[in-house]
Amino acid sequence: LRERLPVAKTGDELERLSISLNNMIVRLEDAFQQNRRFIADASHELRTPLTIMRGELEAIVIQNQIAPEVQTKAVSILEEVERLTRIVEGLFAISRLDAGEAQKEMVRFDLAKLATNTAEQMCLLAEDKGIVVRCDNAQEVMVEGDRARMKQVVVNLLDNAIKYTPSGGKVTLSVSAQSGRASLEVEDTGIGIPAEAKPRIFERFFRVDKARSRDLGGAGLGLSIVKSICAAHGGKVDFYSTEGKGSRFVVELPLSRSNNEMGEKTNGL
Ligand code: ADP
Repeated sequence: LRERLPVAKTGDELERLSISLNNMIVRLEDAFQQNRRFIADASHELRTPLTIMRGELEAIVIQNQIAPEVQTKAVSILEEVERLTRIVEGLFAISRLDAGEAQKEMVRFDLAKLATNTAEQMCLLAEDKGIVVRCDNAQEVMVEGDRARMKQVVVNLLDNAIKYTPSGGKVTLSVSAQSGRASLEVEDTGIGIPAEAKPRIFERFFRVDKARSRDLGGAGLGLSIVKSICAAHGGKVDFYSTEGKGSRFVVELPLSRSNNEMGEKTNGL
């Protein structure tokens, strides 16, 4: 018997009940495990054929040696293959996070620097849309975590801010240390999120406007990935938004212990 709850060794109905409760929990855990394995295997298997299809289609589109009407079709098929690839990549990332792989390589790093570098890499995407990205990251903010996963958090939040902000808008990224926590904020002057969508925004595949998100290439997985990574790092994510005015996403993470000690020393001086 794999015990999940203490078994009452009373030799009566209570003992039988606790044994069957344990069996039920174990069966449920096995079912969840199988479910996770299935999603991980399926998304892994789908990646290779999708990569091949994308490569071949890209070559056809770039060569542009087919009839114009076929070329138009090839471009729209390529867009769909790219969308499918994003969904499969998202599912693959989620299955790895569910398997507890959010913190594979724990290191101490400066979150402010990671955020600034990521914003610089995404600036072109924003400029193309006529959006200005500003970074307010003056101070070093040391945290402990998996750098690649934390970068994913910044990418997903910035990507959304850029996607859901019309041309001429502004996106501001700031990292600071407040009351013993690291805080990363991504604020935009975009379309905002209606109050009734608030409880569901971090759910997998949830999108306020399916058609709009789809046109912008969204799969509805970005924020659920952000939430899982933050939770695995002992942090959380929340947002404040006014429809038609903009949104502000706030990530809070524990500061690196040595950062805290340094802060205390500085305060003590
Ligand atoms: P998607 O791939 O659709 O962007 P996400 O999980 O990242 O999926 O976001 C879920 C939904 O939340 C989006 O479809 C969009 O409706 C809404 N959303 C997320 N970020 C923003 C934002 N900065 N401004 C407005 N709406 C947003």
